[in-house]
Amino acid sequence: MSKVYDTVVVGAGMAGLVAARDLSTRGRSVLLVEGRDRIGGRTFTDTALGGQLDLGGGYVHWTQPNAWTEMERHGLEQVNPPLESKTLYQLADGKVHTTEEARTYELVGKLFADARKRFPLPFNVGAVDNGDINDQTLEQRIDSLQLSKHDSDLIKGALGGLVHNYAMHGSTQLLFAVASNFGSYAAELETAGTWCITGGMKKLSDAIQDESRAELRLSTAITKITDSGSGVTLSTSNGTEIQAKTAILALPINTMRHITITPSLPPSVRKMLADGNPVRGSKLWVIVRGHVEPFSAMAPAGQHPLNAVRVEKRWGDNTAILCMISDSDSIKHDDHEAVQKALRLFVPDIEVIDTAWYDWNGDEFSQGGWMMHRPRHFLEGAVQIRKGHGRISFAGADIAAMAPCTIDGAMNSGAAAAVQVENILNGQKIRPKV
Ligand SMILES: Cc1cc2nc3c(=O)[nH]c(=O)nc-3n(C[C@H](O)[C@H](O)[C@H](O)COP(=O)(O)OP(=O)(O)OC[C@H]3O[C@@H](n4cnc5c(N)ncnc54)[C@H](O)[C@@H]3O)c2cc1C
Repeated sequence: MSKVYDTVVVGAGMAGLVAARDLSTRGRSVLLVEGRDRIGGRTFTDTALGGQLDLGGGYVHWTQPNAWTEMERHGLEQVNPPLESKTLYQLADGKVHTTEEARTYELVGKLFADARKRFPLPFNVGAVDNGDINDQTLEQRIDSLQLSKHDSDLIKGALGGLVHNYAMHGSTQLLFAVASNFGSYAAELETAGTWCITGGMKKLSDAIQDESRAELRLSTAITKITDSGSGVTLSTSNGTEIQAKTAILALPINTMRHITITPSLPPSVRKMLADGNPVRGSKLWVIVRGHVEPFSAMAPAGQHPLNAVRVEKRWGDNTAILCMISDSDSIKHDDHEAVQKALRLFVPDIEVIDTAWYDWNGDEFSQGGWMMHRPRHFLEGAVQIRKGHGRISFAGADIAAMAPCTIDGAMNSGAAAAVQVENILNGQKIRPKV
């Protein structure tokens, strides 16, 4: 008879790594199953352009309790900021501006003015009834301010590095993110996207896995999971079965939706999975000739291919620029001339030498980028799925209760799912995480 594990954790991204580590170091027998031939998930430090670059999630912050605790635990608490920008270029109403930063943050402040009232206790997302904005899109929220095209574009540019399409995302996830960052969108941006680990995010994922006692099975995709009431059976794409007492699915919602889960999930979760994560963005590294003066740029999604641009670091005699792209299809990432043309909107004489990126949308194990919920799901499907489903628990940045969409959120939800499973294994009543 095949081995029956205490838990099978599916997905070796930051959520699954933490869940498997926590349970296995508490003495549970854990199998960590991963579809790709590597761990780390949507964090991916790769050799590119003659150096090590984070092609997925790369930034963490000391105000993120889970990420920072893991960093300290593994002696990695050395983070670096990008070069200090001398100029911020902003595309608004078809023109590039260089003096609108203060006004932009004033406008963004208006957009999120009610964030802390709506989410006064971020650890309890349902503390206040936000039913009136459950269906509100970011676009509707921006439109409700009745701004000129110029001002509306300033706001849209400031959100450009996070969104895919303003009309597709609900407003609640960003309101929550701002609320949990002291009501400040600037703080949210700094937390989510400024400080990177020396040596890349791989150092952190490797360190967590090194500490884990879980058995790791790479290149194994899960296609089906059945909870019989007394145990779970997982089917793999190569036709094998795995038995366990419990399971944790630590997956992007865009891949989780392809797994047949029995008994079927509650309607709000099924709807969230069916609608999926609309983000089809990417992160593009560009090497430009010489030591260019540090600058940043913002452009509304849908109006320019590069939506958040920042001179990041010196790259030998040249310069590395980070570009967040809202819609990956808007530019060919390896077409140097196209990238150069897009950058020249801001800095006319800039010369592109090389580029590097990763296709998160085309990869069958992500099928999309970072998480930005459609309307409703942040307050409904994501809340419901965190309660667990019989012997199956769920984890991941996409459904995280705290810091959704981030590495910190993935870790938070992985740790919470491990506690949930521990309680099931101990025959205790499950304390749902809201
Ligand atoms: C380009 C980009 C930039 C980002 N920048 C930042 C940033 O700077 N800071 C930040 O905090 N966050 C950032 N994020 C978001 C962050 O990287 C993710 O939210 C986080 O890493 C997700 O972790 P996870 O464990 O929840 O999911 P994942 O990392 O996606 O892990 C899920 C794992 O499950 C595996 N898997 C999927 N389907 C199956 C299956 N059927 N069977 C078996 N295995 C499967 C996958 O291969 C993957 O390893 C970024 C994301 C992207 C894409």
